[in-house]
Amino acid sequence: MIDFASYASGSSGNLYVVTAGAEHPVKIMIECGLPMSDITRLPFRLSDISACLVSHEHKDHSKSARQMAMHGIEMYMTDGTAKAIGLKASEYHGLGFYCPAFLENGASIIAFPTHHDSAEPAGFMVISPESEVLVFAIDTYYMDFAFKRVDIAAVECNHSYEILKKRVADGELDKSVADRVAHSHMALENVVGWLDSCDLWKCREIWLLHMSDDNGDARVFADTVMSKTGIPVHVAERRCLK
Ligand SMILES: [Zn+2]
Ligand SMILES: [Zn+2]
Repeated sequence: MIDFASYASGSSGNLYVVTAGAEHPVKIMIECGLPMSDITRLPFRLSDISACLVSHEHKDHSKSARQMAMHGIEMYMTDGTAKAIGLKASEYHGLGFYCPAFLENGASIIAFPTHHDSAEPAGFMVISPESEVLVFAIDTYYMDFAFKRVDIAAVECNHSYEILKKRVADGELDKSVADRVAHSHMALENVVGWLDSCDLWKCREIWLLHMSDDNGDARVFADTVMSKTGIPVHVAERRCLK
């Protein structure tokens, strides 16, 4: 069993939870980019979280990393990300790219490199004990890998080239800002190309993450991805806190 839930998504904060395993499920938090006072209000107990993965050091992904470590949560990230956050070696588990880390129920986590303006950004594959596969990638303008046997794909879909181009033409957006967005975050056009390269025969859910308020359009993005893949699509809401 593998399941994905989004509690916050976008430049004002990110927090997701993966549940992996049928018989002895573990909960894996991905990103902790909310204040601790908000995280403790979410509808799960922190003591139920077996691991927290952090993709990169930008605050909307890592805001509470230190406090999470102080709460005794097992933190996982690349050494470059931990160094940029300022964590001590005793406060996290270093994830090397392509080297699996195993959790207590046999679920595993594999980090892979992504492309972003940060020290050592990573995406994550989470594999349940029953070999179900979730791929998570955020704040990356490109994906290098075509994944096989994906059950859930959770990927950034920040903007579309079409919207950026129109906003620049209308004088609403500076060309240099548009270029910077296109070289740090994932466009709809790239998401569609990446999904097309993956093996999605058993994929049951696609999540589109970190959508820009100004350069995104949830309905267009969901419709485009659904019509290309035939798979149900969720656009992660900015905040799910009540
Ligand atoms: Zn971000
Ligand atoms: Zn970032």
